[in-house]
Amino acid sequence: MMAEPLPVAEADVVVIGAGAFGLSAAYHLAASGAGRVVVLDRFAPASQTSPRAAGLFKLVQADATLTRLAQLSIAIVRDFEGETGVPMPHVRSGSLLVARTAAHAAMVGAEAAASRGWGVDLELVDEREVSRLAPYFDGAGLLAACHLPGDIFVEEPATSLAAFREAAERRGAVVLGEAPVTGIRVERGRVAGVVTPRGEVRTETVVDAAGAWAAAVGVLAGVSVPVAPVRHQLRISGRLAGVAADAPIVRVVEAAVYVRPARGGLMLGGFEPDPLPLDPREAEPSFAIERTPLDAVVLDSFEAEVAAQVPALRGAAVAEHRAGLFTMTADGRFLLGPAAGVAGLWLATGCNGSGFSLSPALGRCLAEWIVGGAPEVDVRSLDPRRFGPGSMTEGELIAAGVWQYANYYTPAGTATERVSA
Ligand SMILES: Cc1cc2nc3c(=O)[nH]c(=O)nc-3n(C[C@H](O)[C@H](O)[C@H](O)COP(=O)(O)OP(=O)(O)OC[C@H]3O[C@@H](n4cnc5c(N)ncnc54)[C@H](O)[C@@H]3O)c2cc1C
Repeated sequence: MMAEPLPVAEADVVVIGAGAFGLSAAYHLAASGAGRVVVLDRFAPASQTSPRAAGLFKLVQADATLTRLAQLSIAIVRDFEGETGVPMPHVRSGSLLVARTAAHAAMVGAEAAASRGWGVDLELVDEREVSRLAPYFDGAGLLAACHLPGDIFVEEPATSLAAFREAAERRGAVVLGEAPVTGIRVERGRVAGVVTPRGEVRTETVVDAAGAWAAAVGVLAGVSVPVAPVRHQLRISGRLAGVAADAPIVRVVEAAVYVRPARGGLMLGGFEPDPLPLDPREAEPSFAIERTPLDAVVLDSFEAEVAAQVPALRGAAVAEHRAGLFTMTADGRFLLGPAAGVAGLWLATGCNGSGFSLSPALGRCLAEWIVGGAPEVDVRSLDPRRFGPGSMTEGELIAAGVWQYANYYTPAGTATERVSA
C-alpha cells in the first residue's frame, strides 16, 4: 500500500527529527518568524530517546556558556505556560551534588565556586542538612555536598515534548510522523529540499536533529556529523513509603549515579565506566530506540554503590527499566549551528547526556541564529565546524565518545588519559 502523500510540498525550514532538539527548535523557529516550519520524523513524533530521559536539569555546568544555557532552559520551562498558554509540568525540587571521597569533595567545592561565579544560587551544606532536605538519602559520612535550590526535574519527559509540539503547532508549524527523510537535495552547495517516500518538501533550510541517526542524515547531504551514539539506562522502583514527590534530585559524583523521586518511588541511573556504543547505522534498518538492549547488571551495580545512602532501594520492586542513546562528541560538547560545506544545513545534536534539559535554550538559540543571525547566548564554542572534515576516524570518534561518557563526573586532572583508537 502506498503511504499517504505528505500534506506539504514547500517550507521555509524543515526540521528532521521530532525529539527534544527538533521540537524545541521548531517551536522557537515558528515563534520567531521563520515562516512555514515543517518537522518530519521517521517514527511517531517524540517516540525515541527523548521520552526515555530522566528529566533532570542541572545548573552546575562545565563553563559559563553551558551555565547560561542551563539557566535559560529552566527559565523557558518556568515561563512556558505564561508565554504560550500551553502547560509544561515540572517539579521545583532543587538538587544535591554530593561526594564521598576527598578528590570528589574537592571537585564539588571547585564546581560550586565556579558556578557561583557564573551566577548560580547554591549553598555548601553538611551531611545532616542533606538528610533533612532529601529524607530518602542518608547523608552520614559525606565529605562534601552542594545544594542547588534552582534545579528542577520533569516527571514524565513526554509531557515537555508534547508541550513544545502543541506550542509549535499553535504557531503554525506542521509536525509529521512516519515521514523518514531518505534524501537531502543539494544544488550548487545549497540545500534545496528533502526527500521522503511520501514525497518531497522544497526548502532552503534544514535542521538535522535526528538524534542517534544524526550522522546518517548528514551523509544524505554529504556532511560529516561527528557523533558516537552510546547507551544510557535508568530504572524506576515501585512505590516506596515516605518518598516526597518534590524531594531533591541527588547526584553522587564518584559513583556517577543520580537518584530522584519518580511515580511514588525512586529513579536510579548512572554513567557506567565501560559503556556500550551502538550506532543505528550498524543495526538492522528497522532499529528503533526501544530495541536498545537493557542490562540489569549495570543498574544493580549502581544500586549497590549507593545502598548505604538510599536504603529504600534495597529489594525494591522494579517498575520500569529503560534505555536510549546519547549522542557523544569527541570534546563532550554539543553540535549546534551551521554544518560545514552545505549552506542551509544546520545541526542540533551531540547531546552528551544533557540534551533533554538544554534543548529549550539550544532550540531558542538555534532559531535566533537561523532567523536573525545572532543567538542571545554566545554559542560559538558549540559550532559544529570546530571539527574539520576527516579530523577523526570513526574508531577515534567512538573511543573519544566512550571516554567522555565514562568520565562524565570525573574530577579534572584525575581522569586516565584518553588513548586514541
Ligand atoms: C535513560 C536516559 C536518561 C537521560 N536523562 C537525561 C536527563 O536527565 N537530562 C538530560 O538533559 N538529558 C537526558 N538524557 C539525554 C536526552 O534524552 C537526549 O540528549 C535527548 O533526548 C536527545 O534528543 P534528540 O532530539 O537528539 O533525540 P531523539 O529524541 O531520539 O529524537 C531524534 C528524532 O529523529 C528522528 N529521525 C532519525 N532519523 C530520521 C530521518 N531520517 N528522518 C526523519 N526523522 C528521523 C528519530 O525518529 C527521533 O524521533 C537521557 C537519555 C537517556 C537515554
